[in-house]
Amino acid sequence: MAKDGNCSLEFFPPKSSAGLDTLLCQTLPALAALNPEYCSVTYGAGGATRDTTVDTVTALLELGYDVAPHLSFGSDDHGVIEGLIRRYQDQGVSRLVALRGDLPPGVDSEQQLRHASELVSFIRQATGDHFDIAVAAYPEIHPEAPGYERDIHFLKEKLDAGANTAVTQYFYNVESYFYFVDRCMAAGITQSIHPGIMPISNFANLQRFSAACGAEIPRWITARMADFADDPQSAHAFGIEVVSQLCATLIDSGAPPIHFYTMNQAEPVCTIARQIGLMEGGSKHAGDSALHQSVA
Ligand code: FAD
Repeated sequence: MAKDGNCSLEFFPPKSSAGLDTLLCQTLPALAALNPEYCSVTYGAGGATRDTTVDTVTALLELGYDVAPHLSFGSDDHGVIEGLIRRYQDQGVSRLVALRGDLPPGVDSEQQLRHASELVSFIRQATGDHFDIAVAAYPEIHPEAPGYERDIHFLKEKLDAGANTAVTQYFYNVESYFYFVDRCMAAGITQSIHPGIMPISNFANLQRFSAACGAEIPRWITARMADFADDPQSAHAFGIEVVSQLCATLIDSGAPPIHFYTMNQAEPVCTIARQIGLMEGGSKHAGDSALHQSVA
């Protein structure tokens, strides 16, 4: 699988073998024309998806994809994490996404590493320069952060600990990303900060999830979606239009390759990718009239 793609794709590990089959036999083939640089696979906080993450990573590797398993220490001890890292190394994995994760309530983390920067250091100590490590960044600032500049300071700490790049939490206000990148550069961060993009499909779910992770859905998007409450087709088209415009603005500004949160769905990522010229069969640019005509 070519490694020079112009985006990356994120999947969660399916719970069942039927779900994995769907991902491998339907979703991935539909997305393959995007030529992703790599596919990442999430990891349930506290190790909840340890086995299914490993199974999904293994299946993607067998198909020839460059895979970036997500990893967080949760309540696991250092030995468990090191075992997982070494297993990935032996399998030929060369990327990791290192995260703190969010422990479920009641899970004791007293003995564990507390911040993602410590996991980055741990990976570097265990495996040297083997892995290309990505970490999480928050243009609208992590909900627990003590302040805007402090959050950037802690992002720099993760990168200084040895991470190579950052991938952002999703956002719909493009100015938040541009301002964040400017402030990161002012703070001395030189690594790429890849925009994480969440297509809009199930808006009610998106609202719930956004409230929990501190990502803002602009009021005008919520209001327009309310207009389409009884018209799922128009809601879908509007979601495509909004996210395609967002991606086009990022690409035009020279942002590093986009990381798509696919939610294990080929659509709407494929349609967005066609709209912005990342995939054949669409308009070259989001400014093209096809995009503006997508919502009647
Ligand atoms: P950290 O970088 O440790 O930051 C967490 C908080 O601690 C921030 O508020 C930060 O400001 C603060 N902080 C950091 N260092 C210090 C310090 N030294 N002193 C005081 N405060 C500090 N979650 C999952 O469970 N599984 C996944 O697969 C997953 N994938 C993700 C992928 C991406 C691209 C993103 C953006 C998020 C992902 N998440 C995932 C969610 C993530 O785990 C949560 O947002 C989590 O709350 C923070 O993780 P982090 O790695 O950013 O933590």
